[in-house]
Amino acid sequence: MTIKFNNLYASLGEAFYASLDPDPLPNPQSVILNEDALGLIDLTINSFSDEDLRDFLSGSLMPKGSEPLAMVYSGHQFGGYSPRLGDGRGLLMGQVRNKTGELWDLHLKGSGKTPFSRMGDGRAVLRSCIREYLASEALFALGIATTRALSIVTSDEPVRRETIENASMLMRLSRSHIRFGSFEYFSYTEQHNELRQLCDYTILNHFPQCSEQDNPYDALLLAATEKTALLIAHWQAFGFAHGVMNTDNMSIIGQTFDYGPYGFMESYDPYYICNHSDDQGRYAFCQQPNIGYWNCQALAQALSPLISKEGPEKMRALYQETYNQCYHGLMVRKLGLTKPHPSDKQLYEDLLDLLEGNKIDYSNFFRALSHYKISEDASSLTNLQSCANSFNPWFMRYKERLISEKSCQETRHKNMCAINPKYILRNYLAQRAIQQAEMGDYQELTRLFMVLKNPYAEQPDHQAYAADTPPWGQNLQISCSS
Ligand code: AMP
Ligand code: MG
Repeated sequence: MTIKFNNLYASLGEAFYASLDPDPLPNPQSVILNEDALGLIDLTINSFSDEDLRDFLSGSLMPKGSEPLAMVYSGHQFGGYSPRLGDGRGLLMGQVRNKTGELWDLHLKGSGKTPFSRMGDGRAVLRSCIREYLASEALFALGIATTRALSIVTSDEPVRRETIENASMLMRLSRSHIRFGSFEYFSYTEQHNELRQLCDYTILNHFPQCSEQDNPYDALLLAATEKTALLIAHWQAFGFAHGVMNTDNMSIIGQTFDYGPYGFMESYDPYYICNHSDDQGRYAFCQQPNIGYWNCQALAQALSPLISKEGPEKMRALYQETYNQCYHGLMVRKLGLTKPHPSDKQLYEDLLDLLEGNKIDYSNFFRALSHYKISEDASSLTNLQSCANSFNPWFMRYKERLISEKSCQETRHKNMCAINPKYILRNYLAQRAIQQAEMGDYQELTRLFMVLKNPYAEQPDHQAYAADTPPWGQNLQISCSS
């Protein structure tokens, strides 16, 4: 089995990680494999025998050149600082530079205990692997920055959570596993040489344009801030709630990272809290933009030995401007508007109030709106049902706005269908795939994965996956102990 590793992170030195081998899964069984993701590291399923591939993805076969390591980091969790976290149940198996020059990390989640496991068992359960697999690939297909998922392998090794579950592993691919918390760790342990080294590594591999700036570390802070603001604007426009925006779950390259008790908004509710242990609603949907900024401030604080006095202020302005512009641009596109008008912000804000007041499914409303014709009123949108009357005044304004920009129905429909997904990962859909997988049947998981790969396509055979969530599927309690 040959994988061309190019382990740049390992070359940073021992201060940055602990080297150790994964603890293999006994009797590994393949659950799902993402051939597209395999292509990212220039491999195909024909590159290996089935057994070799399964053994590699479950920690028992170590290809030549692999240098498994647990990365060290710390982080602010729910606002409080945890001085030492680190990879407690995952290992960076190595890095691959693909033929287009991209560097990819191969991270095996659920690979056993490490020096950072604290009280944990180092394992991941099938349920949480499936949730990460589906969500990361769904976000990717929507066009939202995210880590990728390559595979899931399960086993009969029992793992204790609320019940006994099966130890499983997910192979995650990402351009980087460096977190805001990685910088916090070196900063607050006063390892300032290592902090600088980590910044230089990040600049070289992820933000090379920063090295040409007067203060490359200011530039790094700003570049990471910009990526973060763009990411969160996308979460808000697509109705995605991350659930655990601790700084150890914030990727320095601004990807959606570390999927836990996340959730896609169903009926529109700005106070939606997807993480049931988040009693205070710190990470409620509407808090995400503020928390994104809070996290960038934490990053600025960690970088304070290297950045200028003006750095944090520049960061604040950049975050706000980038977030506002990106979110506004996305919402206007969701409405199918192409020529800016000063009333646009009010138009979508009033619409969100209506969706909230009438508990309308967020994604399905916008998808239905793409079919709207100027000659119609609100009642033509079947998903508004009995509340069409309260929407009619808004539709009058929308109609006027479309007329004023001479909107062409056909073009608008096409543009709107390219940003308003028909298929999102509803919790109950994930839950159904999980329940069947836990019984050893992976067909529903594979089907759902295929549907989510093309969220903007009509997919006539899969209409049922696009329906509003049935009452029994709303407010499912998702366990956080993954
Ligand atoms: P997470 O909630 O997945 O972002 O994890 C937060 C921290 O807890 C990280 O340092 C993880 O490595 C660690 N952790 C989570 N689950 C486990 C586990 N089952 N065993 C060991 N460490 C864990
Ligand atoms: Mg984490």
